[in-house]
Amino acid sequence: MSRPIRYRPHHFLCTIGFEGKGYSEAFTANMASIVDGRLRAKGGDDLQIEVVGAADDLCAPCPKRRGNLCTNQTQINRLDRAHAAALDLAPREVLTWGEAKDRIRQNVPKGSLATLCEGCQWEPYGMCEAALARLHDAD
Ligand code: SF4
Repeated sequence: MSRPIRYRPHHFLCTIGFEGKGYSEAFTANMASIVDGRLRAKGGDDLQIEVVGAADDLCAPCPKRRGNLCTNQTQINRLDRAHAAALDLAPREVLTWGEAKDRIRQNVPKGSLATLCEGCQWEPYGMCEAALARLHDAD
């Protein structure tokens, strides 16, 4: 069996909102292969994800990554803390993508990303909030 996908806490919700945009061509191609090619593909809900506290499988080709850190580490730490608390994620916890989506539905109400994701450059565009609403409406 392949190893779990490694995600830092705030990337669970970023995966919900992903629409094929990112920080560079390589970053976007990698994120698309994980999000569209695996998690949103047939059987994706059964894939395992391990919660990590540093650069993860989405960060790997990011032009802002510096080793295990980020050029914007203070903001990333704030997002990770807020999202870990909201989703009740523990370090090294392993959960399936289906379980992660259930946890988002149970813990992140519509309209909460302006606060939860405050400071993220993608938040003002509204695609993550729209995707969160679709996730709830699909219940
Ligand atoms: S607004 Fe930013 S941090 Fe929040 S889910 Fe979207 S991309 Fe991720």
